[in-house]
Amino acid sequence: MSNPEHGPGSFVLRGGEVIDGSGAVRFAADVVVEQGRIAAITPPGEGRADRILQIDGRVVCPGFIDSHSHDDVQVLRQTLAQPKLSQGVCTVVTGNCGISLPPLATDSPPAPLDILGKDAYRFSRFADYARAIDEARPCVNVVPLVGHISIRIKHVPDLTRSASEGETRAMRGEVEAALAAGAFGLSTGVYYPPARAANTEELLGVCAALKGRNAILAMHIRDEADAVVPALQEALFVGARSQARLVISHHKVMGSANHGRTQDTLRMIDAAASTQDVCLDCYPYEASSTMLDAQKAARTGNVLITWSSPHPLASGRTLKSLAQEWGIGLEEAAAKLMPGGAIYFSMSQQDVERVLSHPATMIGSDGLPHDQRPHPRLWGTFPRVLGHYSRERKLFALEAAVHKMTGLPAQRYGLTGRGLLKEGNAADLVVFDPDRIREGSTYENPTNPAIGIDAVIVNGLIAMWQGDVLNSHAGQRLRPQA
Ligand SMILES: [Zn+2]
Repeated sequence: MSNPEHGPGSFVLRGGEVIDGSGAVRFAADVVVEQGRIAAITPPGEGRADRILQIDGRVVCPGFIDSHSHDDVQVLRQTLAQPKLSQGVCTVVTGNCGISLPPLATDSPPAPLDILGKDAYRFSRFADYARAIDEARPCVNVVPLVGHISIRIKHVPDLTRSASEGETRAMRGEVEAALAAGAFGLSTGVYYPPARAANTEELLGVCAALKGRNAILAMHIRDEADAVVPALQEALFVGARSQARLVISHHKVMGSANHGRTQDTLRMIDAAASTQDVCLDCYPYEASSTMLDAQKAARTGNVLITWSSPHPLASGRTLKSLAQEWGIGLEEAAAKLMPGGAIYFSMSQQDVERVLSHPATMIGSDGLPHDQRPHPRLWGTFPRVLGHYSRERKLFALEAAVHKMTGLPAQRYGLTGRGLLKEGNAADLVVFDPDRIREGSTYENPTNPAIGIDAVIVNGLIAMWQGDVLNSHAGQRLRPQA
């Protein structure tokens, strides 16, 4: 591959094959990039531009969209280039699982809000956060959501009960203000302690702000284990009543007694899809990762610690080995490590593959960038889908895999002019080697970069080339289309 010269002007990616993000079969073509846009797609050898970048044997496709991230802090701090650009991600959706920085100003965010760190809750208005992203000029594009848990902590003094009418009205007002200031929608996480007492009525009251707005409602459902079916029913009901574009977040079922039940849940989602707007996202691993919960950890058994405030050196160790060392049980050991984060090995390969293969499934990393020893999904999600699941497991064609991370999320989130490699669209592009692409990160070495990604172009600027960051300010906050 030839080396890009730094600088403005047009360039042509020559000698590669285009996968356009729609799911269509790849074809040989030149791609001309000019002034941030895809200026032309021409027969091989015919593209004209100031510079020629030879990409023989490579695929060029739209930049990947991480439809489920927790990068709310990182988009302000220029720490995203490595985990995100290095795996081809050009756009991140922030504010998932009910957890967003705005509209909350606090020095002591309770779990799970502390997965974003403790010192970043500084924005009491969504508009202030939006402005901060614009000023930071992040390396990737940002699609922000506002989170119900953050709003709830601000407006409901007693988190152990459902909100009163007045509190619900105040929360709805926060969502309306966030939408007016550029939020693409709302996320919820009634699985988590500060929102567990929120009943369906509270959710409906808050989500009423979404009606008629073509807005996203991304839901981390109440239960992903034994009670996954009623939890999914609740989410589908709230989505339908709110007339929102529902996203079932990181869909899975956990616990060996529940393995195989994605057959039922996907059937439910298919049935609902005939009458309402619903889709889902998924990360390509059999282990989940979130806040450390003593009971859940004891029930799961096979648990890796990602961070622990009282015991920082426990990061990267198994709960079992720590419990043994301390001569106590798993639950007691987990309680000793809290507040903290953990990786839970609790899904089946078949369920993960079934959800990944579903045509309405987008790829979302759910990566936790603040963790000391993060789940490998933070660095490896997108190349793992392309390498392990498409090339090696042959779960779906490469074109279908690319669609799940480009055209599909762009359409679901309403990112007009992105997600498809077509003339006139924004030039968010990835160049990769289809024979070599794979994740580098593992549970043991979770921050190894991906292999086989040659170039990442954000808004027409070469952001990364052969692993080197050339531009860490090429992204922008995207605006919802009316
Ligand atoms: Zn979640």
